[in-house]
Amino acid sequence: MGDNIFLKIIRKEIPADIVYEDDDILAFRDIHPLAPVHILIIPKKPIASVASLEAADGPLVGKMFLVAQGIARDLNISEKGYKLLIRVGRDGGQEVPHLHLHLIGGARLTENIHPV
Ligand code: 5GP
Repeated sequence: MGDNIFLKIIRKEIPADIVYEDDDILAFRDIHPLAPVHILIIPKKPIASVASLEAADGPLVGKMFLVAQGIARDLNISEKGYKLLIRVGRDGGQEVPHLHLHLIGGARLTENIHPV
C-alpha cells in the first residue's frame, strides 16, 4: 500500500488538529469541515478501506466507533445526535485511501448524499 496524507498525519510529518490518540487510533478535525464538528477517526494500521478489512480487524473497527462515541460525548453532541459516515472506493466518493470514519455534528444535518 502506498503512502497517503493520513499516514503522514499519523507519523506527524504534517500537522493536524488532533482530538484523540492512542496506540491504535488517531482522531483529528477535518481540514474542510462540513459542520461545526467534523472529525476523522482513523486506525494507525494502514488499511485502505472497508473493502480491504480482514476478520482480525473487527476489534479495531469496533474501537473506532467507541472512540467516535467518546468524542461526541466530550464535545456535548451526544444527546442532539450526529452522523457517522464511511465512504468506500470511487463510487462511494472516498478520496483518501486510508480507512476513516467521519463524525459530523453540531448542527442539524441535511441529507445530501445522491448519485453523481
Ligand atoms: P473522504 O472523501 O475520503 O471520505 O474524506 C476525506 C476527508 O479528508 C475529506 O473530508 C477532506 O476534507 C479530509 N482531508 C483531506 N486532506 C486532509 C488533510 O490534509 N488534513 C485534514 N485534517 N483533513 C484532510
